Amino acid sequence: MTDDTTGTGANDGGRGRAPVPESLDSLEGLALGDAFGERWFHTFRSPERALAEIARREPPAESPWRWTDDTAMAVSVLRVLHEHGEVVPHRLAAFFAESFAADPRRGYGSGMHRLLPGLAVDPTTWSVAARDLFGGEGSLGNGAAMRVAPLGAWYAGDPGAAARAAELSARVTHAHPQGVAGAVAVAVAAAILAGRDPAAPTGGELLMVVAGHLPAGEVRGGVERAIDLPGDAGPERAAALLGSGDRVRADDTVPFALWCAAHRADDLTEALWTTAAGFGDVDTTCAIVGGVVAARTGLGGVPPTWWERREPLPAPFARWRPVRSRGGQGRGPDAGPIRNRSLRMRVPVAGPTVRTTTGPLPGPRGTGEQEAHRMSTSDESSSGTERNEPLDENRPTPDRLLHTGGDRPVDPEDLVRLTGREPTPERLEWARKKLEEEGPAAVERLLP
Ligand SMILES: [Mg+2]
Repeated sequence: MTDDTTGTGANDGGRGRAPVPESLDSLEGLALGDAFGERWFHTFRSPERALAEIARREPPAESPWRWTDDTAMAVSVLRVLHEHGEVVPHRLAAFFAESFAADPRRGYGSGMHRLLPGLAVDPTTWSVAARDLFGGEGSLGNGAAMRVAPLGAWYAGDPGAAARAAELSARVTHAHPQGVAGAVAVAVAAAILAGRDPAAPTGGELLMVVAGHLPAGEVRGGVERAIDLPGDAGPERAAALLGSGDRVRADDTVPFALWCAAHRADDLTEALWTTAAGFGDVDTTCAIVGGVVAARTGLGGVPPTWWERREPLPAPFARWRPVRSRGGQGRGPDAGPIRNRSLRMRVPVAGPTVRTTTGPLPGPRGTGEQEAHRMSTSDESSSGTERNEPLDENRPTPDRLLHTGGDRPVDPEDLVRLTGREPTPERLEWARKKLEEEGPAAVERLLP
């Protein structure tokens, strides 16, 4: 390895330029969405309870809301821009690997568990290593999209530059064209909304512009379907039409998330509630929406309790925006200069309907794959799991479970542990049946 993977710049702010304010708002919004969204997983509450709390707009009472891999990787993306002023792929690979090694139990997907340890050894191998994933096709997962909104905001008002940088940032881990396209779509949306242009498009017009930056393929097809879906259609209908991340792919995640962001572009809190109501890969969809919408709105309007309950952002974020820790214990209601700073005026834009209230909330059941996902957790609940038992939210997913598709068979105990619970005879029996009926897909559905 010839590269200095940590670099002196990592410690002193580097030789890059000062962060673009919108990109820091975007990162805060992304991390908030990530941590907020994660709370709706079955690991923390049953689907029935989640739906009821979302319908009542009742934020999770527990604390902290921990951020996940979405935030960890977004920090690395912004770090490379901060230190180099542009995406330098081998440096980004090094940052991804460094934060993974420091804290691997943040819900990274199986591909990253395979890829990032190798990049820690030699980050210059990113191109070959990323392409080797998934039988040589590269990943088409939503991981490059989930982390990229702050990059889009960095290129505020210049969606073309955002698209080019997003592509480069995506290829470090996601070699498949659709994994890349998902990142481009999110970055373009963030760049447009962060541009402070009062005439910037929102709603269906924004989605049209985004689609224009995408190559033909599944992601573009999904965004094009979202264009015609009105803002008052409701998140359940949008999720049923577009997918909301149950397959953890870019094309079943990004169109739904951008539909939510485009139609709730002036209200970060409401945007996150709307997104959560679509369920699916809900930390990822909320991370995307939080990152895109916060680039436009700033952070004002989010209830103080949300900031108090969410886990603070990891280093080096604190060095980029020198404010006191937010979200820790004892933080007073007016302790956040960021909130005050971010109450910047936004001029209402003309164009398609921009709703700041949601459509009808989802009923107790979804359809299609989403239904299958929910049923998988309902089955568990009905087979003896105590729904309200205290869960150890700090318990990591066993790393080997994140290596699906590998050569290690998954047994019923693995499956139970993946739900965040201790094995009991009833739960083991439930898991045995799941594996019998669904095979490895049972595990894929439960992966974060
Ligand atoms: Mg995550």
